Amino acid sequence: MSALILDGTKIAQQIRSEVAAGVKVLVAAGARPGLAVVLAGHNPASEIYVRGKAKACEEVGLYSEKLTPAESVSTAELLATIEDLNRRDDIDGILVQLPLPPQVDSKKVLLGVDPAKDVDGFHPMNVGFLSTQRPGLVPCTPAGVIEILKRSNIPMAGREAVVVGRSDIVGKPAAMLLINANATVTVCHSKTHDLPGVCRRADILIAAIGRAGMITRDYVKPGATVIDVGMNTVTDRTEFERFFAGNAKREETFLKKGSTLIGDVHPEVAEVAGAITPVPGGVGPLTIAMLMFNTVKAAKMRRGTRIPVLSHTE
Ligand code: NAP
Repeated sequence: MSALILDGTKIAQQIRSEVAAGVKVLVAAGARPGLAVVLAGHNPASEIYVRGKAKACEEVGLYSEKLTPAESVSTAELLATIEDLNRRDDIDGILVQLPLPPQVDSKKVLLGVDPAKDVDGFHPMNVGFLSTQRPGLVPCTPAGVIEILKRSNIPMAGREAVVVGRSDIVGKPAAMLLINANATVTVCHSKTHDLPGVCRRADILIAAIGRAGMITRDYVKPGATVIDVGMNTVTDRTEFERFFAGNAKREETFLKKGSTLIGDVHPEVAEVAGAITPVPGGVGPLTIAMLMFNTVKAAKMRRGTRIPVLSHTE
């Protein structure tokens, strides 16, 4: 039997509509939330992401501003830019697009963001809030993973969850959110022994590895929910065949673009899992939706408003 496909695009759209409704209420109260995105230097991938974020802001009615310091910017100059944004009352969220140019001390810059405006949720203060279950800003991608589970009515309490990946931006916060949702959580990484065996214990398996199609059917308990965070580009014909042989739609994309996207989960897993997120169209769309959500949340928290805007997600 084939797994239920968890449609991230549809869920992201629901969240965006809720955010747009929330923005309307704040605008009526004279407080339009604003997001500042700092894009230092020229990185084509970052430029595409930032364009997507600006478009999403416009769609939900948020004010957005893009700051573009030169490739040669110093740590001190970037910190001064961020200090300025920290002070501005019309800016509720600050996002520093990574990677920063090599001469910049990224950790120092991220520490400079006011935790109340840290819509990426990377500041150690927000990390601490998450681990101690205090209100704060949660990293967008793992927050999106939890939204997919919640809105698809997949129970977490008491379930075995396995997270493959322990990065600060995905694996660790995803594990923390699952613990907070009362799952029993195991975190795996490149030194884990018998990874397939550990993964097979999971009722909920989260793959955040960055290795194309690594999670094959041997890693998955029949009926498990599999959330694929990975985003990998396949350009090699042999690799393409290994994953997508006989898939006409993929073949068309591959021929047209010379590449196609694949997650960390092999497509064959759809034959054993109970539910699965596709790539593209799974976790990806949630990341921007949760950024919009975080900007409104930051605005509400910073302004002390009690307007009940986004009931489901809070
Ligand atoms: P990362 O910082 O490179 O972390 C990868 C993690 O996977 C590390 O903890 C690493 O273990 C583990 N790992 C690597 N190879 C492994 C192996 N063979 N067996 C077991 N564990 C292994 O990556 P990330 O930033 O968390 O991102 C992970 C994936 O999610 C990437 O594909 C990225 O593009 C994608 N992503 C997607 C979104 C989205 O919006 N959909 C957002 C962010 C990231 P060690 O710690 O031992 O090295």
